[in-house]
Amino acid sequence: MKRRFRIAGHEYRVILTKGIIDPDKRGAIGQCKNNTHELKIDTTQEPSEQSVVFLHEILHAISFRYFFNTLFGEAGTTENEEMIDRLSEALYQVLSSAGIDLTVT
Ligand SMILES: [Zn+2]
Repeated sequence: MKRRFRIAGHEYRVILTKGIIDPDKRGAIGQCKNNTHELKIDTTQEPSEQSVVFLHEILHAISFRYFFNTLFGEAGTTENEEMIDRLSEALYQVLSSAGIDLTVT
């Protein structure tokens, strides 16, 4: 997997970190920083969990770039996080079963 890609023309990069990324946010294991174009992923999680986190953070970036941060409700709300969690799990299941390698490396 490449660690750089574009969302709405903006180059984002994946940053792998060991351990919880933001303890203030319920022990977040991923983070999307749209101001610096960074997606952070905790590499202490199982590989399949890292893939789901990657998709989750991409969905946050897509929401920010294309939906004024309102995809599935207001960003940061419990409803928003739950919907993005569900969609990232669904995408992981479909894409991985289609043989698409989502391994974060
Ligand atoms: Zn989230």
